[in-house]
Amino acid sequence: MKPFARFALLGALVVGGLSVAACGGSDPAPVTRGDAAVTPLAQLPAIDQNRVLEHIKVLASDEFEGRLPGTAGEERTVQYISEQFQAAGLTPGNPDGTWVQKVPLVGITGKPSDLRITPAAGSNAAARTLKYEDDVIAWSRHVTDRVEVDASEMIFVGYGVEAPEFQWDDYKGIDTAGKTLVMLVNDPPVESADGQLDSTIFGGPAMTYYGRWTYKYEKGAEKGAAAVLIVHETGPAGYGWNVIQGFDGERFDLEAPDKNAGRAKIEGWIHLDRARELFRAAGQDFDALKKAATSRDFKPVSLGAAASMTIDNTMRRVQSQNVIGKLAGADPALADEYVVYTGHWDHFGVGAPVNGDTIYNGAGDNATGIAAMIEIARAFSQVEPKPKRSLLFLAVTAEEQGLLGSEYYATNPLYPLAKTVANINIDAMNVYGRTSDIVLIGQGASELDDYAQTAASEQNRTIKPDPEPEKGFYYRSDHFNFAKVGVPALYAESGIDYVGKPEGWGQQTRDDYTENRYHQPQDEVLDNWDMSGVGEDAKFYFAVGYRVANAAKMPEWREGNEFKAIRDKSLGRE
Ligand SMILES: [Zn+2]
Repeated sequence: MKPFARFALLGALVVGGLSVAACGGSDPAPVTRGDAAVTPLAQLPAIDQNRVLEHIKVLASDEFEGRLPGTAGEERTVQYISEQFQAAGLTPGNPDGTWVQKVPLVGITGKPSDLRITPAAGSNAAARTLKYEDDVIAWSRHVTDRVEVDASEMIFVGYGVEAPEFQWDDYKGIDTAGKTLVMLVNDPPVESADGQLDSTIFGGPAMTYYGRWTYKYEKGAEKGAAAVLIVHETGPAGYGWNVIQGFDGERFDLEAPDKNAGRAKIEGWIHLDRARELFRAAGQDFDALKKAATSRDFKPVSLGAAASMTIDNTMRRVQSQNVIGKLAGADPALADEYVVYTGHWDHFGVGAPVNGDTIYNGAGDNATGIAAMIEIARAFSQVEPKPKRSLLFLAVTAEEQGLLGSEYYATNPLYPLAKTVANINIDAMNVYGRTSDIVLIGQGASELDDYAQTAASEQNRTIKPDPEPEKGFYYRSDHFNFAKVGVPALYAESGIDYVGKPEGWGQQTRDDYTENRYHQPQDEVLDNWDMSGVGEDAKFYFAVGYRVANAAKMPEWREGNEFKAIRDKSLGRE
């Protein structure tokens, strides 16, 4: 999991020598449960919090070696989850009759050259070399020994965004094939007349997917660019250049049939100071162009220079697995529709010692989520009436390496996405006691909010919006891969207001975890854990999924959401 600012970085940073992922206001709308007979939450089966704790203790034990994909720890983890899914009443979730979906991963360690910049013909500018690490950080996702970008024209494309729903196009039809695209991080900060961020476009102060660096590389690849370089700015990025430098090292990726040749050859970041110099040499002013890029009228600008760089890759392949269990729906008319729970089983394995401990047990992150999912599965197999739609419980791999297991499932689904009605993602449960609130990340995205609202009220709890929407957490955990293919996805976090504790205690507890245990070997089961919050939150997730599984209609994205068009297309509504 990832929700803390300190780690709200790139997709990956280096911990213990491992390339690891940082893990990522609505109008009232009619409640769409539809079904007349909705069992009150209080009458639904309780989630056994002691059982949840027992699972966590096993999954986070030293015997499971920190659950790194491709290790003996993975084998134990996959076996344990499969056995527990079966004991909870599920059947093998892969239509081939097994409990797993194989996920082929490739680990790529790149050795990039410096970035050589040569002036365009007729330019007086001097040639320059940007030093790898000091001035530029780059990598290639191409599964090949060597990539080369040779004298590729550099073009500044503003924020690199193409958003038809906002009538926004930073490319304006220019030829981008084989070019090196230089772009800005974050959403375009469009101001309204009062000087505030315009809330009608790019979410106002909240981040949309267009602001994420992953979007920018994807869009550049779609445009046929040879290289995509994002100008690093500490404020908008949310992290310093030192964090970008930590992005070095082995990177895990999925291997597409085309060996990832569909990506730009080179992706990376360029230091702000070097970008300013580059713009100046082209007779341009970085700040003026940055300002211009906040307007729809912005046009791409050639930087009068060409970029050359090579990257030598060494690769190793790792076969990992998603674990999947199924509970068939009871209504023949709806049983071919699916509600999918996700949680990631992986963590960082064995790595650099911290305070003498080398096993990254990942108790909170995310043994808690997997443990809760097992018990939610049990509740589903016991509840009456039986859910009408089918349930899938998907324990994904390689979240910590960049949400890879969920990406693999979403792009290689075992059941049709058009029949996948919703995703509910659980990443790190609250082990510090009951809270009077629950935080909904990406509130306003879909009608799943209404289910969350109803379940929370029945628990006498309040739903709170994401306190930091500008950080784009909705785009940083496994549910996002479902959203990306159009499936409405719910992602909540534990609340912050603890019952019977003074104000601020929750934040303090959370900060302590972030500081002293998060993504460290010290993320272990502690004596002071209070599982009552887990039981309550798990029941919340269960109630939401149960009602979606029984509803008269599928939940929808809200009007204006960036994933709605994808869903409409997937459902053949166009
Ligand atoms: Zn994590």
